[in-house]
Amino acid sequence: MKKRSLISQVFPSYLLVAVVAIVAVASYASIIISRFYHAHSKDELVSAARMSAEHFKTVIARGKDGQPGTIDGNSIDAFCKASGKGAGYRLTFILQSGKVMGDSEDNPENMENHGDRPEVHDAIVKGIGISTRYSHTLGMKMMYVAVAVEGDFGQTIGVVRTSLSLSVIDKTIGLLWHRIVIACLVIACIAAIISIVVSRRISRPLEEIRLGAESIGKGNLNDKIPPSGLAEIDVLADTINHMADQLNERINTVTQQRDEQNALLSCMIESVFAVDTEKCLIKMNNSAQKLFKADASVYGRNVMEVIRNNDLLDVVNRALDSSEPVEGDISIPADGRYLHAHGTVLNGADGRRIGALIVLYDVTRLRKLEEMRRDFVANVSHELKTPITSIKGFVETLLEGAMKEPAEAENFLRITLRQADRLNAIIKDLLILSSVEQESEMRTISLQKESLRKVLQEAIEVCSHKARGKKIEIRLDCDDQLTAMINPALLEQAIVNLIDNAVKYSGEGASVEVEAKKTDNRIVIQVRDHGSGMEKVHLTRIFERFYRVDKGRSRQLGGTGLGLSIVKHIALAHGGDVGVESTPGVGSTFFIYLEDLLPKSKKYVQQDASPSADGSA
Ligand code: ADP
Repeated sequence: MKKRSLISQVFPSYLLVAVVAIVAVASYASIIISRFYHAHSKDELVSAARMSAEHFKTVIARGKDGQPGTIDGNSIDAFCKASGKGAGYRLTFILQSGKVMGDSEDNPENMENHGDRPEVHDAIVKGIGISTRYSHTLGMKMMYVAVAVEGDFGQTIGVVRTSLSLSVIDKTIGLLWHRIVIACLVIACIAAIISIVVSRRISRPLEEIRLGAESIGKGNLNDKIPPSGLAEIDVLADTINHMADQLNERINTVTQQRDEQNALLSCMIESVFAVDTEKCLIKMNNSAQKLFKADASVYGRNVMEVIRNNDLLDVVNRALDSSEPVEGDISIPADGRYLHAHGTVLNGADGRRIGALIVLYDVTRLRKLEEMRRDFVANVSHELKTPITSIKGFVETLLEGAMKEPAEAENFLRITLRQADRLNAIIKDLLILSSVEQESEMRTISLQKESLRKVLQEAIEVCSHKARGKKIEIRLDCDDQLTAMINPALLEQAIVNLIDNAVKYSGEGASVEVEAKKTDNRIVIQVRDHGSGMEKVHLTRIFERFYRVDKGRSRQLGGTGLGLSIVKHIALAHGGDVGVESTPGVGSTFFIYLEDLLPKSKKYVQQDASPSADGSA
């Protein structure tokens, strides 16, 4: 719809009011003037007719040439012409028969019978007749007044008629209307000027309000509309300013709440996202964005397009369909992660369902631990099963009669003993491993500042018997002053395991070098051999429980597959780590890295006295 300007609204109203007022006044005035003129003209015509009637009475009484009963038409006509000249009205004398005897403006001989004229008829009947009508003879509106002329005996002889053109009144009224039209035009101009001034006075502050409101609408809520000086408009400006203040306050509150919510959500480790009832994403916290490799630009898109995981979509669907919270396990094969999802329906303030909220917990570590536990149980069972089956077999063979053959029986018993030793070794290593793990987890491992050389020497001592058997020389290179925060018994156990392996996997007459030194902030202990070495593929898995490069050889050498695992856990318990370098046929070097200072990540019990043999506090 086309909008009308303020001036186009104000101007016609002003104009209409003024014109209506003028027209009303002019109409009333013209009626009054017309009436007055009529009355005045009538009175003038009546008195003129009466005066003329008196004169005609005497002329008629005199008779023509002094003869009574005759009418002197010439002197009547002459009187009419003389009286009518300059009087402004027409004077006519008409006999009762209707015959015109004299007229101020025409020759009575040429005039028709006037007996049928209403004023003439009324004058004969009532003594006076007045009529206003259009004269076809003169072509204008006329007022006629007729007065009866009576004889000496009261008989009506004729009628004197005075008449006047009413066009004078029309002219006067026409002039009046002409002036009214001019006045209307002048008033229209004045009204236009007043309208412009008034509408400017109103529209200028309104324009300022519009600009102010526009600026507020653009978000400049601190902008204020200035006062205009017009009370009604200032009320509007104040209302808008107040509205802007309130809006500003509300927006600040909402922004603060949103920021708090965002901060809360982004601090959450759990991945959280929300969808509407159409399954379009409406919110995602940082963790969820990282998980699904998405950002806020995906808001509004269908969750199926962004999260291509059937398990998760199933949880979303169930959460949207159910009024109860739902759960589900989700695996993300791409990065090997496991999640546990909780889905809850989202209700709006009016209780209407507006979507669903999904919270994802990363349970990868738990799952991996579970897997490790299962693998470990399977491995332990497998490792224990072999010697037990073997012991059972030989004992049965002995019972079945082999016992009676002393040489055979001794051989079987030796094998049985070896298997029992193996069982013992596995169980011993498992116990050490579990104790190291437990103490490490419980953070109850006691550390003390100890000379490393002493610990390394004692470890070499433990292995020296075996080394001598293979004519292997174990060399030690360690500064006497080198100390570290260690649990001596546990570290000795780790070094013994490494030296034992070095001896086991080295040929006769080889050498093993044990070395400890300080580099940067770390202390590195290394055990180097020149034995069989290993292929690179094994190096990443060598510290796993029960992992062996060559199972048969390891068993033959009395290995349990747990030695390096124990080393690793002891290093971790010290806040350190392990490492290995190896080349097949050249040899291997195993490293234990220890923190020079007290490890920050773990809480240790420090004590000065030597710990118990098993390393517990
Ligand atoms: P094991 O009791 O079998 O020696 P470990 O955990 O101590 O178990 O070692 C795991 C495997 O690592 C061994 O089976 C062996 O194959 C390999 N290994 C360990 N130390 C050495 C070494 N010094 N030289 C070559 N291979 C080694």
